[in-house]
Amino acid sequence: MDVAFENRKLEKRLCRLVGQAIDDYRMIEDGDRVMVCLSGGKDSHSLLDILMRLQRRAPARFELIAVNLDQKQPGFPAEVLPNYLQGLGIPFHIETQDTYSIVKQVIPEGKTMCSLCSRLRRGILYRVARELGATKIALGHHRDDILQTLLLNMFFGAKLKGMPPKLVSDNGEHVVIRPLAYVPEKDLIRWAQVRQFPIIPCTLCGSQDQLQRKQVGDLLREWDRRFPGRVANMLKALQNVVPSHLMDRELYDFVGVRANGRPDADGDHAFDAEELPMPQPFVATPDEDDAPPAAPAPERRVFALTPEG
Ligand code: SF4
Repeated sequence: MDVAFENRKLEKRLCRLVGQAIDDYRMIEDGDRVMVCLSGGKDSHSLLDILMRLQRRAPARFELIAVNLDQKQPGFPAEVLPNYLQGLGIPFHIETQDTYSIVKQVIPEGKTMCSLCSRLRRGILYRVARELGATKIALGHHRDDILQTLLLNMFFGAKLKGMPPKLVSDNGEHVVIRPLAYVPEKDLIRWAQVRQFPIIPCTLCGSQDQLQRKQVGDLLREWDRRFPGRVANMLKALQNVVPSHLMDRELYDFVGVRANGRPDADGDHAFDAEELPMPQPFVATPDEDDAPPAAPAPERRVFALTPEG
């Protein structure tokens, strides 16, 4: 196998998927100042890396500023990210706030700390974004994070709710974007190895993996391995919602349903089972397995350039 060729293909695929997501949801526009939240994990490193590549080639002019929050977790290697970011030559800001001590004081030993920790982190990042004049906050959640959240919300929250590619923050002040929304996690794992990012482990806080999230993640990985295309289709389904065939009375006016005499292929099919495409023997190239969702074509493509450069 030609490793350099495979790596180049991976880089192109990442640029294509990220560029397409940015275009589909108008995540970044001319003149934006994008604050990239860099935790030091593989996902946020990849996000910054790919956005820098797109910044060089996309016609839109936008600024990137990397922000890391040093939460004073024991053993956090405070010099790693500043050294790395200086080497990249990108504007950055390190915010130091000892949320670790607060969380340890408030949460009883053995209980999960993540919810308070992430609430504190969110508030700090919003403040930093305001101070830096950021117009967008970019987070490193990827396709598999979105699908895990969808399943967790169904199983435990009784809601059909994933993770938005772009939404106003809960305090109403910022636009939060997830440019890796189309990217499978396995690509980010490989890209982190290729690029040799200085990864900071996410276990420094001592918090255990959230068991339910881990179980759902394992389920998705198993499906992806055994049934190629299934997980990619789940993401496409999030872009292809049929409110009349769900049961949310807010989304569809079931009360007002009346027969109107006009045939409609999308009407009720009574006893007919849903016609599903026959499963095909899987012959896709590795790229096609992760083909991005079929979003409606936007009027103007800016980022989804063929990344030949
Ligand atoms: S894993 Fe640790 S750092 Fe991450 S949210 Fe949970 S408590 Fe905070």
